[in-house]
Amino acid sequence: MSRVNRGLRFFPAARPPFLSCSPTVPRYDLHCHSTHSDGLLAPAAVVARAAERGVNVLALTDHDEVSGLPEAQAAAADARIELVCGTELSVTWDDVTLHIVALKIDPEHPVLASALDEIRLGRTTRARRIGESLAAAGVTGAYEGAMKYVTSERLVSRTHFARYLVEAGYARETKDVFKRYLTRGTPGYVSHTWASLSDAVDWIHAAGGQAVLAHPGRYKIDGPHMRRLLGAFRDLGGDAIEVVSSSHTPAQYIEFATYARAFGLRASCGSDWHGPGESWMDLGDAPAMPQGAIPVWNDW
Ligand code: AMP
Ligand code: MN
Ligand code: MN
Ligand code: MN
Repeated sequence: MSRVNRGLRFFPAARPPFLSCSPTVPRYDLHCHSTHSDGLLAPAAVVARAAERGVNVLALTDHDEVSGLPEAQAAAADARIELVCGTELSVTWDDVTLHIVALKIDPEHPVLASALDEIRLGRTTRARRIGESLAAAGVTGAYEGAMKYVTSERLVSRTHFARYLVEAGYARETKDVFKRYLTRGTPGYVSHTWASLSDAVDWIHAAGGQAVLAHPGRYKIDGPHMRRLLGAFRDLGGDAIEVVSSSHTPAQYIEFATYARAFGLRASCGSDWHGPGESWMDLGDAPAMPQGAIPVWNDW
């Protein structure tokens, strides 16, 4: 069953009744993207949309990038919402690609900034290899095509390839492109070693931030492997895991809230919104955190 169907099943037109609608409880959305990575709207437009949709505290978390934060911060001041400075780091742990969301970072911290520069350089090299790998399978011009979709000359993502391959008629939707061309075992997949988990946590802490394991339910690992990951993350100083995420089912909200408690980690929530028509959950639509989870914002 696709995630789209799963989302529609649990979230029909209206918000579920257990959502908090009280104006006194701030609405948090601590994970989203702009044109400074693979999102479709500029940072100011993301912030304006979040404010319109009732978000009170928004983290912009572009992949391996902080350059959208000044624009987002100015827009948040105009919209009278709180902007949390964030990013989403690409990590390799035990041969698995993980995403670590950083929250409340100093975006100008030189250690973090130069680490992100390095990761983005790796993205450029990987993109050339993805282009070559697709060309070898008969899908020509993908690198150049992906470049047309890049919205910040500083960062290229598989999402840009996916958008081009939809335009070129290889699939109708980007998620189908991922399934058929960009994931392990398909023609455009190239393995890539990202930052280490330990370095990522250290950089985030050096920049004064909190390290959050993004969408744990998305990793293709079994229960024992998940427990090993959560133990390693906690031992390295990791602060929180995403419990409520557009990548999770309601059953997984409970599952990961339980994991968070068991491992002494805080809980975060975020839509991981990328743009109109491309995401499973809109800005601000993350339901309330399950009972018993200690929110990552508890001490903010
Ligand atoms: P990258 O970091 O360049 O490898 O690209 C990862 C990004 O691709 C994620 O942040 C998502 O935005 C997008 N992505 C990954 N898997 C899928 C999928 N199955 N369908 C749609 N988008 C995906
Ligand atoms: Mn993305
Ligand atoms: Mn992610
Ligand atoms: Mn994300």
